[in-house]
Amino acid sequence: MGMAIQKDVRQFSASYLIKTVSECFDSIQDLYLLPIDDTGLFYSGTCRCDDCCIKNEGKKNQTFYHNIIGGCIIHPPRKTVIPLAPEAICRQDGSTKNDCEKAAIRRFLAQTKHDHPRLKLVILLGG
Ligand SMILES: [Zn+2]
Repeated sequence: MGMAIQKDVRQFSASYLIKTVSECFDSIQDLYLLPIDDTGLFYSGTCRCDDCCIKNEGKKNQTFYHNIIGGCIIHPPRKTVIPLAPEAICRQDGSTKNDCEKAAIRRFLAQTKHDHPRLKLVILLGG
């Protein structure tokens, strides 16, 4: 996604989010739940770009993939969630899957705080 479009989405998302969250979701002491996890966007054994993460590098079953870190504001009884702008995991983020996820989560959280500075969030992460 180009930077200009990304910025527009974030600005729309920020104003929409504050209005929607406060109107539709009950807070718990002004806190909202934000579970975060990674998910796959792309996976191929042949097609790749310079930013692709590589699984089984140099081996016969080498594959190229892109994952993102995504998070949604949730409220347990509600089926509707409010997704926040995702963060791409890049090959440059680290040498292991764990390193890559940690680096992308740091950027995701920093960007979320920048986009929604007044929103108090409880971050939920998997093990
Ligand atoms: Zn790629």
